[in-house]
Amino acid sequence: MTSYLIQNASLLGEKTSDLAISSGVFVDPSSLDPSRDDVTTIDASGLIALPGLVDLHTHLRQPGMDHAETVLSGSKAAAAGGFTCVHAMANTAPVADSVGITDLVHRLGREAGYVEVRPIGAVTKGLEGSELAGIGGMANGEAQVRVFSDDGHCVSDSLVMRRALEYVSTFGGVIAQHAQDPRLTEGAQINEGALSSSLGLAGWPAVAEEAIIARDILLAEYTGARLHICHLSTKGSVEIVRQAKARGAKVTAEATPHHLLLTEELTAGYDPIFKVNPPLRTNEDVLAVRQGVADGTIDIVATDHAPHPTEAKDCAFDEAAFGMLGLEVAINVVQKALVDTGLLTWADVARVLSKTPAEIGGVEGYEQPFALGAPAHLALHDPTGEKLATMRYSKSQNNPYREITLPGSMRYTFYRGVATVIDAEVVPLGAPS
Ligand SMILES: [Zn+2]
Ligand SMILES: [Zn+2]
Repeated sequence: MTSYLIQNASLLGEKTSDLAISSGVFVDPSSLDPSRDDVTTIDASGLIALPGLVDLHTHLRQPGMDHAETVLSGSKAAAAGGFTCVHAMANTAPVADSVGITDLVHRLGREAGYVEVRPIGAVTKGLEGSELAGIGGMANGEAQVRVFSDDGHCVSDSLVMRRALEYVSTFGGVIAQHAQDPRLTEGAQINEGALSSSLGLAGWPAVAEEAIIARDILLAEYTGARLHICHLSTKGSVEIVRQAKARGAKVTAEATPHHLLLTEELTAGYDPIFKVNPPLRTNEDVLAVRQGVADGTIDIVATDHAPHPTEAKDCAFDEAAFGMLGLEVAINVVQKALVDTGLLTWADVARVLSKTPAEIGGVEGYEQPFALGAPAHLALHDPTGEKLATMRYSKSQNNPYREITLPGSMRYTFYRGVATVIDAEVVPLGAPS
């Protein structure tokens, strides 16, 4: 196994130092002899060293929708973006509502080898919202599932949500809610407001998200269980979570890269590339979500990477699928929206894109960046330059950033001490593609 001596990296954008990796873990740089044949030296001058990134919200589409993405292609896209761990959502075909499927996804992730793939289990059987899925079986399986979500659907029945929260609290699990009141959003296409009226598209009102978040926070406080809110997108949602945290509620929340950068005006041309759920909101919402991440109301950034084949986007707006790619550009969007605007430091980025998502997901090895003896999960990001965002590794091309320049580039990623990205190219690891 190759050892690496990484010289002059800027650790979390702060002090410049060397890092060393040997036998899969971080070691003292002075213990590596750079003249040895099995030691590769990397000049990391100007690169920001971050801990390997952890995504709490990824759609890998396997099993069942392999034409959109597979565990392998999604893992490569993740590695290209600096990730070393992703949580795979349960809305596959079949749905990941039993231990057979969650353990399958876990095994496919291990075989791919680029990142740790942590399956998310469904809350309800078939994502149908009525009967609890095999939560205990999934939690006790090989994958030891800790995050449960019907994402794509909202667990809208209050009693089902209460029972799910109670169940997962018995083993330290968390329910990740896709907050969308189904009755308030029937047929909804874009954010509800003046723009949806003028375009003649059915609106998705902010209150449909906020009402579910408020209810679920009350249920979490009542049951004592942990609640996580997926892709929070409105100014009102930020305020509700802020108040709940001030009371001490055990709630965490995520923002997506697209809700940190893109606004509803992009949908004015009826291009389905900008169709996503929850929808792109107003500039005021974007600024509130950014502020929420900056002040800790929103705990993490999670991609909601949602690959769709061309035919699912190359059609009329109201027939198109919801969702956008995110893994390959999350760090660049975060740099543009939060770092270059002065809202976050790189150390903050390490918290919202690595340490805290790992904590929420119950993933070990991310407690302290670059700790000697810890698994070497590392991302080396070059913050300079900017370019049009391209998606090189996902099987899908629903890229909403294709006409937007984004700053920075991910140069190297190491997962368990194995280089998965070298010089911004994903390294072939030998698994069949
Ligand atoms: Zn969702
Ligand atoms: Zn999702």
